[in-house]
Amino acid sequence: MRSRIILISIFLLAMGATFLFRKPHSPDTGGVWSLTDHLSELEYLTDSLNSILADTINIRTASVEEGGTLGALLYSTGIEGNRYLNCCRIFIDSLGWTSVHVGDTLEAIYARDTLTEVRARPRNGRGYYCIKFDGTSEPVDWYWIPEEQYRRLRAVTLAVRSSVWESIACGAVPPDLTPSGYIVTPRDSVREVAYIKGLENELANRLFVYDIDFYYDVQPGDSVWVLLEETRYPGSSETSFRRIIAAKYDFALGGMTEAIPFFHQPDSLAPDGTAIILDHYHRDGASLRTMFLKMPVPFGRISSPYSDSRMHPVLGYTRAHRGIDYAAPMGTEIYAVGDGVITVRSFSGGYGNLVRVRHANGYETGYGHMSGYAQHQEIGSYVRQGDVIGYIGSTGLSTGPHLHFEMKKNGSYVNPATEILPPANPLLENDLDYFMLQLPVLERTWSRMAGMDIPALRIEGTDSNSTSTE
Ligand SMILES: [Zn+2]
Repeated sequence: MRSRIILISIFLLAMGATFLFRKPHSPDTGGVWSLTDHLSELEYLTDSLNSILADTINIRTASVEEGGTLGALLYSTGIEGNRYLNCCRIFIDSLGWTSVHVGDTLEAIYARDTLTEVRARPRNGRGYYCIKFDGTSEPVDWYWIPEEQYRRLRAVTLAVRSSVWESIACGAVPPDLTPSGYIVTPRDSVREVAYIKGLENELANRLFVYDIDFYYDVQPGDSVWVLLEETRYPGSSETSFRRIIAAKYDFALGGMTEAIPFFHQPDSLAPDGTAIILDHYHRDGASLRTMFLKMPVPFGRISSPYSDSRMHPVLGYTRAHRGIDYAAPMGTEIYAVGDGVITVRSFSGGYGNLVRVRHANGYETGYGHMSGYAQHQEIGSYVRQGDVIGYIGSTGLSTGPHLHFEMKKNGSYVNPATEILPPANPLLENDLDYFMLQLPVLERTWSRMAGMDIPALRIEGTDSNSTSTE
């Protein structure tokens, strides 16, 4: 049994983290989150890598026709015997799916010919029912997944042209971002820009910010392979960028940089209930990022450095400037430079609109003069490195749009530009073992992506087995 679990976990990892995990119901005794211990906790099977993995995953889909029954639906996707009986029992008794209607669909997902999951989508439902199998005829888990939790992976190959932005714009915008595949309305355009900005930000300002200088290192002929996660809204055909699962940057002149994913427990600052988080590493297990970003604004220009004494532009007398000012256009996004908890989020005298974030190891950062705050955050919110926390403004004692950024360690001001910062979340022991296990499989995915057309947009719509309307 154990060898099968390991095999299954290798298979899961084989999909380049095609599966996403949810936090275990009952946390372990303070330790490392283990994949094998929580196999039954798998929450989502995202299916956009089906074409890449066509030889390992097979999805059989059927729709309810006039006079159709649940039984007929199950049979037509190859579900028989005890699996059939168990599915009927769970759908009707446990999940409350008591009657089927024309247009409802069922998907039976087979991995190497073994049934792993059954999904039922009521035609007008806002989500789907899901039953998980572990390789036997006994289901291990079942639940309803609301549509706002839909996730999908997309594999994208970008040929670098003149700029990263252009490469992304040409290679990564999903054809189904708009119903027609083209920009037809201003709203579509806004969505597309948001998608591209999100992807670019994650790639250039977050994953590779320490490894690649996007002004000088990048040139035509380079290529980027990205496994990215999207949120889909099946009813409206909307797609939005969520995050990058894995990425690899190949330089035309030789050499490469990779961002290899690993899912683990958040640090101790995170409030209870914070989901499993995703971090990225080099192939030796070293963290891809340090504890803090270089800059809290994209491509920011330092308008006033940290100093112990300077002439204050508004007050007109010499006063220490225990922070760094970044000039940037009004409304530019401001990022949390590291993971942490928001402790201040209010107007605060000369700072104007201010956000403070408490980090691990006794650090705290402050962000002043904001024009506004990011939505859906409050005091106590846990933010990840690179999350938007507000927007450039000129509130408080300020002569023009800029960010006043400051950092404290154990309560004393430090210069963010010279502070030596520890690496973030290094991988240890068990985590490192699991990480190493997934490496070769991820590489296999990448090598297959390398053989795909560029830009690799043909993933969508090539799943001939599926008649899903998702
Ligand atoms: Zn300042």
